[in-house]
Amino acid sequence: MELDKMDENDWKYHGEGNKSLVVSHVQFSRVLRLLKYPAEDSENPPQTAEQAFRQIQNIVDFSSNVMSSLLGEKFIHSGEVVKLPLEFVRQLSIKVQHQRPAWRCDKVMDIYSGCALCLPNLTSPALHQPTHTPPLCIEIKPKCGFLPSSKHVSKDIKTKVCRFCMHQHYKVANGKWKRRSLYCPLDLFSGNRQRMHFAIRHLIEEPQNNFKIFKGGQCIYSSKEGSDDSLDLNSLLHHLRPYFMYGNNRINSHMTGKAVLNDFIQVLVNALLSGGGGDGGVVMDRRGEGRSFCEASHFNRERIRHGSQGLPSDSVLFRILQTQMLDTLDIEGLHPLYRRVEQHLQDFPKERTRLQIDGPYNEAFLEKLQKCPTEDDGSVEYAVAKVHQYRVAMTAKDCSIMVALVPSTEEEEDDEGLPSQRRHRDFLSSRPPAFSYSVSILDLDPKPFDSIPRQLRLDQRIVSCYLRTGGSLP
Ligand code: ATP
Ligand code: ZN
Ligand code: MG
Ligand code: MG
Repeated sequence: MELDKMDENDWKYHGEGNKSLVVSHVQFSRVLRLLKYPAEDSENPPQTAEQAFRQIQNIVDFSSNVMSSLLGEKFIHSGEVVKLPLEFVRQLSIKVQHQRPAWRCDKVMDIYSGCALCLPNLTSPALHQPTHTPPLCIEIKPKCGFLPSSKHVSKDIKTKVCRFCMHQHYKVANGKWKRRSLYCPLDLFSGNRQRMHFAIRHLIEEPQNNFKIFKGGQCIYSSKEGSDDSLDLNSLLHHLRPYFMYGNNRINSHMTGKAVLNDFIQVLVNALLSGGGGDGGVVMDRRGEGRSFCEASHFNRERIRHGSQGLPSDSVLFRILQTQMLDTLDIEGLHPLYRRVEQHLQDFPKERTRLQIDGPYNEAFLEKLQKCPTEDDGSVEYAVAKVHQYRVAMTAKDCSIMVALVPSTEEEEDDEGLPSQRRHRDFLSSRPPAFSYSVSILDLDPKPFDSIPRQLRLDQRIVSCYLRTGGSLP
């Protein structure tokens, strides 16, 4: 990719979140992630080009120096900051505008800084050979997987119903979504296959912004409100069926939709519980199951047939959960410490740099949060360490998992026999099809220091809305 010869025709709209818009290269496995800001500021950008560059460099540093060491390097691709020609960015923004979902258009793409984050395209992994069946990539934004146990929690309901489930009531009450999702993160993070299966089924039923499926790099399934060309369950089955035909199913093509979906979810659960690359030596997190069950989950606890082993300690879900749990005090216990830091910075503004409030996100930052004393000694250092931990946990509560499933070729599945025999055997095989998978984590931006007061207000609103309306809704 030559940065001085960029052509908007080589790039296409790929997707977007609340903070950034992503375009993918039509040929190479690359994406560009561009910043967005509120549409009302479209005439005058909220920051200079240098500040935008700094912001993206901070994202790269935070991901590669902080999150990668907490979540595991094997899952992380931090990318690099690139400086693009402004004319290219302007043309690109015009080109993608009509493909953007209407509900995301309260923000506009940054066309002034020319800065972007260049990343590998995780939805069209390089391991895929174009002649074979295209890979399936599943993106899950799992959200927070545990109930707070901090003594600072003031409302009992927060220790019984998880944040995601309460937030759903709030979002429906405020018109953000028409229907409530019955996905519960505590089921996904349980490590119990039945509960995980149940959780993923509900992600498929009501994807909102927590679930997407890509085939050969194209989004084929996402929230209906999210995009015009997103499809319903029948067309998803149409896409999935060829990947899950085997044995008799392949001959008489009588595999029911339910069976296809079950196999698909099964494969996804396997990938989520794997080490992300197939290495062994797994230790189970046996405390897992008892720790969390959300009272709002529709999963029937009596249905559990097999006891859970908890999450394997090298699985992506375990690493994300551990990082989320750096939020030990809950926002209610953290906020007074935030105020302590804020007060200190008012008295000594120059301390902002030494305490690394806005970065740099380097090893020293990581050390500050890892060497935090267990007891509050009243110091600003303790308060800063807890704030840093909380911000890292926030990032882990907001990240996405990308699972890439590549159907195994017949040669990989079976090494014996002649090619013709192999094909024949495979054709009649009663085994479910095999996939090789790779698991990555994306969207690891640092959350700003001053977003903390907003977090407290949001928490209060969500809880009071739930107490008013939630418990009574079906
Ligand atoms: P959020 O609102 O979740 O914070 P965001 O604005 O921070 O989102 P991202 O989640 O990083 O943005 O990117 C938006 C979407 O673009 C993702 O949900 C994903 O579908 C796609 N995407 C991002 N990075 C990549 C990548 N490296 N490869 C493929 N697709 C990507
Ligand atoms: Zn829940
Ligand atoms: Mg995201
Ligand atoms: Mg994000």
